Amino acid sequence: MTTQPTPTDPRTAVLHAATTDQTWDLLVIGGGASGLGTAVEAATRGYRVLLLESHDYAKGTSSRSTKLVHGGVRYLAQGNVSLVREALHERGLLKQNAPHLVHDLGFLIAAYKWWAAPFYGIGLKMYDLLAGKLNLKASRYVNKAQALERTPTLKKQALKGGILYFDGQFDDARLAVTLLRTLEDHGGVALNHAPVVGLIREGGKITGARFRDGETGQEHAVKARAVVNATGVFVDDVRRMENPSVKPMLSPSQGVHVVVDRRFLPGDSAIMVPRTDDGRVLFAVPWHDHVVIGTTDTPLPEASVEPRALPEEVEFILKTAAQYLDPAPTRADVRSVYAGLRPLVKAAEGTDTKSLSRDHVIRISDGGLITLTGGKWTTYRRMGEDTVNRAAAQAGLPERLSLTAGLKLHGAAAPDTHLADHWRVYGTDTARIQALPGADAPLHPELPYTEAEVRWAVRAEQARTVEDVLSRRLRALLLNARASIEAAPRVAAILAGELGRDAAWQEAQVRAYTELAGGYVLN
Ligand SMILES: Cc1cc2nc3c(=O)[nH]c(=O)nc-3n(C[C@H](O)[C@H](O)[C@H](O)COP(=O)(O)OP(=O)(O)OC[C@H]3O[C@@H](n4cnc5c(N)ncnc54)[C@H](O)[C@@H]3O)c2cc1C
Repeated sequence: MTTQPTPTDPRTAVLHAATTDQTWDLLVIGGGASGLGTAVEAATRGYRVLLLESHDYAKGTSSRSTKLVHGGVRYLAQGNVSLVREALHERGLLKQNAPHLVHDLGFLIAAYKWWAAPFYGIGLKMYDLLAGKLNLKASRYVNKAQALERTPTLKKQALKGGILYFDGQFDDARLAVTLLRTLEDHGGVALNHAPVVGLIREGGKITGARFRDGETGQEHAVKARAVVNATGVFVDDVRRMENPSVKPMLSPSQGVHVVVDRRFLPGDSAIMVPRTDDGRVLFAVPWHDHVVIGTTDTPLPEASVEPRALPEEVEFILKTAAQYLDPAPTRADVRSVYAGLRPLVKAAEGTDTKSLSRDHVIRISDGGLITLTGGKWTTYRRMGEDTVNRAAAQAGLPERLSLTAGLKLHGAAAPDTHLADHWRVYGTDTARIQALPGADAPLHPELPYTEAEVRWAVRAEQARTVEDVLSRRLRALLLNARASIEAAPRVAAILAGELGRDAAWQEAQVRAYTELAGGYVLN
């Protein structure tokens, strides 16, 4: 079934802007952290930019992170000082530029051995120093009583105390939507449900791409002076559109999180386990009145759009959490389980994925296709800046300075602490959403969201499907997958009212969402 947008459908104007006959300065393929960061960077420099996303903004890895804006304590332990310094600098900028989406959070490293607190304490002093003047609060030693006051469910037996340090926390998919809005505020165009299906080449050079409108099936060609491939774990697929025999540059690795009720970590701090049994870091982080626990590092032979957690990954997370929490969550307590794929840049044969580069990589092919991958959410702005510098030089665009270090993102406002947590992410848009019909109508008794937010998602944030709404405009899928399935029919009905769709469309939407969300429910 194909559906044509009506004149009043918000997609009509975007599709029209995306397909008018012109040569864009920059075409960005992929609407995750990397692509959106690149597009915002380009638009704010005054370049004409189009971004095409095959599914929805942050559908890939960018909605499946640990939700930390961080320098990466682990990379410090690996001696990667410059990477940590850069990320800490970006952490500070992001907090200044998106205070409605990023806040400080205390992380406790619990010490059960006498040497643990001084050992980690020294490393974290270094972490503080590397952040320079953009540091959050300084790390410090806490005794057993202070540790338990911050995290009352920490296992008490043999607890000596701990180190408390500070990092940032954010809502990843909401940051993606905020970057979309920022891009539009600065004259950029972005279209979701628009997969790029081929590249256009003239005289050996990449001069554009062909995309399919996912709603009508119609194909369009767009021309651009520079084309950026920011498709996350799918960059090799796009590289193969230029050269079918190109060697893959990525080796995907899966990271899983489980989400449980806040009662398992009721204090005001997160927990960081610096070394799990398999040598990884594990976090338990309060998020939207729930707790996110993860992650794992499982090499995969190939990438998929909806990666699924393996039973042993869930078991490992719950087993490790049980070493630190009392009571510990069991399988029955898991509200949602989600998996994300790391776009790790390949190293030599036989290298363990835990030690592959987390830094970003920009590669330019003979035909001029610019591939950006690796990195992390925290450094998305820097990745965009580097990519646009390279693209502008390659395409011969007029040189222009980057403005994004001081650029307030859409809606930026000091968080209103009187508002419930889920309203704060909208910043200065909040009052407009609360004036819409349904601002007092809850979507579901176990979810914090209202019907007004669904309307806003369609009218202002390019949401097109039940999944776009429940997974990324609202975070219902991650907070409580089962409740989100129960809310799906109501969301479908509101979407249908907004977009002029019929009962068959609603049924198909609910069916598709129920099947997808079933993969986030732990049976
Ligand atoms: C488990 C895990 C935890 C993490 N935790 C953190 C954290 O706490 N903090 C942090 O800073 N970083 C974290 N990261 C890293 C961070 O999430 C990623 O580096 C970042 O999200 C990658 O963004 P991306 O845009 O490169 O890829 P993606 O987000 O995957 O975006 C690529 C996009 O391209 C689209 N696409 C694919 N093919 C096409 C096509 N043909 N046409 C158009 N579009 C296409 C996809 O649909 C997708 O939306 C974590 C990563 C993982 C895996």
